[in-house]
Amino acid sequence: MTDRRTGWPYQVFEQMASTLARRLSGYVRDSAAGAGPVVRIRPVSEIAADLDLGRWIRDGGMTPEAFDSFADTYCANSTRLHHPAYLAHQVAVPDFPSALADLMNGVMNNGMAIYEMGPAAVAVELAVLDWMLGQVGWLPVAGGDDGRVATGGAGVLTHGGSLANLTALLAARASAAPRAWEAGVPGDLGILVPPASHYSIARAASILGLGSEAMVPLAVDTRDVIRPDALPQALRRLTAAGRRPMALVANACATATGLFDPLDEIASFCAEAGIWMHVDGAHGATALLSPCQRERLRGVARADSMVWDAHKMLRTSALCAAVLFRDARAFEATFREKASYLFYGEPGQGVDLIHRTVECTKLPLGLKLFFNLAWRGERGLGEYWDDRLAAARRFAAIIADRPGFSCPFEPEANIVCFRHGTDDDHQIAVREALLASGRFHLSSAEIGGRRYLRLVVMSPATNDETIGELLDAIEALERTH
Ligand SMILES: *Cc1c(COP(=O)(O)O)cnc(C)c1O
Repeated sequence: MTDRRTGWPYQVFEQMASTLARRLSGYVRDSAAGAGPVVRIRPVSEIAADLDLGRWIRDGGMTPEAFDSFADTYCANSTRLHHPAYLAHQVAVPDFPSALADLMNGVMNNGMAIYEMGPAAVAVELAVLDWMLGQVGWLPVAGGDDGRVATGGAGVLTHGGSLANLTALLAARASAAPRAWEAGVPGDLGILVPPASHYSIARAASILGLGSEAMVPLAVDTRDVIRPDALPQALRRLTAAGRRPMALVANACATATGLFDPLDEIASFCAEAGIWMHVDGAHGATALLSPCQRERLRGVARADSMVWDAHKMLRTSALCAAVLFRDARAFEATFREKASYLFYGEPGQGVDLIHRTVECTKLPLGLKLFFNLAWRGERGLGEYWDDRLAAARRFAAIIADRPGFSCPFEPEANIVCFRHGTDDDHQIAVREALLASGRFHLSSAEIGGRRYLRLVVMSPATNDETIGELLDAIEALERTH
């Protein structure tokens, strides 16, 4: 059974993989049907004991039967993203083609940051990046087979949107301060950022050596959306503080609310003032695939960089994120490095992505997105956006109709914010009680300084009935208090 030279138990692998595939199919089917708690929060020590982790680590010796039983217990203590009551976070309910890509990647392990470690994987990554660039309205990467970029756009897939934001802002820094890589960061750089920006932007500012004090907040309306009329004033504040603008960040859409900043007006301002415009489209860039919703991102093609997570609304498993650039030359200046075991003299044939990433070993992330596209097509993925947006709008209407509940705005993405009553602490108490019950998994967010409950409508299984039951459950909580 076990190959003498490789130690690979081929038949065992095939048997376990097909048993596991059947178990996971059942897990998805049961979850989508609403079986079991959506989330099961227990003390970590109890879970470790149930899984018998200590013994397996110490003794080894897991058989296929024990593996299946372990998988059963593992599933029972996991969060069911396919469940209709999974409404908390933006992590994709992955489509099965991307899961199969994970299996291929796991077995083949082509760490493809250098071409020789995965030529097919590089070809796939470049193809999906070109597809994404085209959706934004940017030119594909126009380079030769030697990886030297001539003109056009550019991009790379990263292990997550946070790293993608860091990469985009690093490129912006290289543009504003070309000597920063060698000489360190000048003290006068500033970034214009909406208060609703994802925390990874603030982190990037600190990691890049600007410091969080370099972030000048943009004025927003009551929904935390950037007010374009107040942009000149923010720039004046930044320059009055002795700084020069390195970048302006806009949301498409904002994490907390799912609302889109007015990119077109912001792009006009940035063009006039000569400011690098970065669009954080981690969640909402997928609206570009919807013929009737892509208007929300009007003006995005005039930005300098954009982030787009496939592991949110393009339904790949985590992680698969893209950082994209309008102008390849701006990206080429971003990273510089020396590593004698990897680089020497002139590049040979092929495209080494390693010059474009923070990571050294890099997963073939493009395969996950490629298989989703190859299976559903860009139309199918656009229809998923439309379908979950339509559901979110119906849910907001159902919630607003129920006495005691209110919604602060009409959803522009599959994110619904609402309140039960008006007390901020009550919203958190509701979330905590529902989470502990395992019946509904919601999140919460602050908008304009007030606390709201927040639904992210990811699972195709979530319907109007789910929301009716959720509101009943919230009302029942109040009665028991
Ligand atoms: C989710 C999100 C991020 C972070 O992406 P990760 O892939 O979780 O690192 C950044 N920006 C926005 C707007 C997001 O919604």
